[in-house]
Amino acid sequence: MARAESPVEERGTSAAWREHRGAALDREGTFRVIECEACGFRHVVPLPDAEELRDVYRHEYYAVEKPLYLERSREDEPWWRVVHGERFETFEELLGPGRRRALDVGSGPGVFLAVGEERGWETLGVEPSEQAAAYARGRGLDVVEHFLAPELAPELGTFDAVHLNEVLEHLPDPRGHLALCRELLSPGGVICVAVPNDHRPFQAVLREAAGYAPWWVAPPHHLNYFDFDSLARLFESAGFEVVRRETSFPIDLFLLMGEDYVGDDALGRSCHARRRRFEERMEAAGAGGLKRALYAKLAELGIGRHAILYGRKT
Ligand SMILES: [Zn+2]
Repeated sequence: MARAESPVEERGTSAAWREHRGAALDREGTFRVIECEACGFRHVVPLPDAEELRDVYRHEYYAVEKPLYLERSREDEPWWRVVHGERFETFEELLGPGRRRALDVGSGPGVFLAVGEERGWETLGVEPSEQAAAYARGRGLDVVEHFLAPELAPELGTFDAVHLNEVLEHLPDPRGHLALCRELLSPGGVICVAVPNDHRPFQAVLREAAGYAPWWVAPPHHLNYFDFDSLARLFESAGFEVVRRETSFPIDLFLLMGEDYVGDDALGRSCHARRRRFEERMEAAGAGGLKRALYAKLAELGIGRHAILYGRKT
């Protein structure tokens, strides 16, 4: 992997950009991914303007950038229900009885909230996208159409569980966001963060052995590129003790076996359908526990599509 050792010098629009320094790993357009010494995780520089990003996520993200997202979420809902059901199982195990208030930050189409309500949880979603918030409200779910912001936090109350699924990689200040989540948790409350597990071992194999470019680098939507270790460091610095480490299916197995879905949406959907079938068959056979044990082993190896950490408020 080529590494430029010189500090990054581009001028960004973020006021704090000068503090972000480290070896550049990848480049995409005008962005570089750096191993940021100040932050302790990889992220792009220059960081886009926070206000511009907020406009994109409010009005455009599901309408322009991800027009098929809500439709695909409907197609995939039975599978998502299993994924989110397992997250609630873990929350329930870690929290014990009687603690059943959950906040979903970036609640999207609301499947996590719906699953929680059915399990007897009291749930609230925060979602900046007007399309996604309207969709979830149409299902009778309680969703605040907003970003999780310091001025909003005091109005939300406190929670035993806070969930962020594929949110932290999009945010210019993930540490500040986790600090806000911490304020919203009751003593001993638990946070679950799922982010893409990037620069993971199988991606390195694909770069070395098959000449793949870093296809996962996707600014300005993905600003941060976490792995298990950098996410764990961020948790600790934000006042959380890591109590569980999970992952999802290592989707790049398909690439390693020659199914080149990068840039091929139809093949990507087909590979997704196959891993869904694997998980659904395991569930149908009552082998969901075996699947989770397998994924826990993959998480120990740093392999798997997502880095999923649970942290307890310290
Ligand atoms: Zn940084």
